[in-house]
Amino acid sequence: MKITAVRVHTLRAALERPFAFSQWRFTRRETTLVEVSTDAGFEGWGEAYGPSAPIAAAVGEFFSPLVVGRDPRDTEALWDFLYARSIDYGQKGTLLAAISALDIAFWDIKARAAGVPLYRLLGGAPTEKIPCYATGFYYSEDYERAFRQEAARYLELGFDAVKMKVGYGLERDVGLVRLVREAVGPRVRLMMDANHAYDPVTAIALGRRVEPLEIGWFEEPVSPLDVEGYLEVKRNLAIPLAGGECEYTRFGFEPLLRRRALDYAQPDLCSCGGISEGMKIAVLASVYNIHVTPHAWGSAVGQTAALHFYAARPRQPFTTTPELRLIECDQTENPFRTRIVTNPIRFQNGCWHLPEGPGLGIQIDRQALAGFE
Ligand SMILES: [Mg+2]
Repeated sequence: MKITAVRVHTLRAALERPFAFSQWRFTRRETTLVEVSTDAGFEGWGEAYGPSAPIAAAVGEFFSPLVVGRDPRDTEALWDFLYARSIDYGQKGTLLAAISALDIAFWDIKARAAGVPLYRLLGGAPTEKIPCYATGFYYSEDYERAFRQEAARYLELGFDAVKMKVGYGLERDVGLVRLVREAVGPRVRLMMDANHAYDPVTAIALGRRVEPLEIGWFEEPVSPLDVEGYLEVKRNLAIPLAGGECEYTRFGFEPLLRRRALDYAQPDLCSCGGISEGMKIAVLASVYNIHVTPHAWGSAVGQTAALHFYAARPRQPFTTTPELRLIECDQTENPFRTRIVTNPIRFQNGCWHLPEGPGLGIQIDRQALAGFE
């Protein structure tokens, strides 16, 4: 089997209701999908997380000519080849996001050609249902009303875990966390995410104020560049720490894991290096007894790739405790998540059911896709 073409799809959509987090305000969504065609009739889809323009150039102009003619089933060999060709210029960032998209598409093809769902090719899943947590509670003008509506909706959908945004300043954060805790009730697991808005002292101060509200994890309390800062926060709080959505490859994750800066490692499959590299990060994490729960904030393609990875990832410690089996289920407005596939993953009572079709198991709706290009 040979790759005959790589096509880049840049998707853009304006949001009906803009929302903000600690770093900026979203008025639109944008993502990059990669479609890989072969001479055997199989096609594969991947997604890159990050700014579309440089990613489109990285895939379309730099990497594509290198992979046309290669067999997409040689996933390891292709990953090494592409990384070796780019390591001098970008060990992290855009070039890795581009490799990630290609790698996901290669795995999609490999599993389609094998006639099995991707998670099975990766090693199989212990359960057919994957419990998720709802990511929401972003900041908007009428956040009080919005938070109550969101809480009611998530409970109705069967979620028993939710994640909210913080990082707007200590006092405001404490108020927001109280509001969400009150809205979702005492039994729902509540996580909070500062998107690296704080220095260690402020993160510790916030953590201490909200510790009595039973926080499941504190995500990106400090800069992703500050491993010592993570360790300082960890030493001073009982709340587990999560992070890693801004980190890349096994080489980037290794010091965070070895030094136990994280309790939950969150590689994004669409930027950390794809399925191939995500599995290696998960192997490393298992050595250090650290949970892996992928960051997933993209389209249906990236979300599904994260689900297959999560289902099949190596685990440690072995447990049947449900709260340790959680994957992100973004609930913010995103038409690329909800409208570009003809057979969305079945979601029921707070859980995804693993797709049983070959490859990623989703069919792209080309007409819908074209509407966003
Ligand atoms: Mg996050």
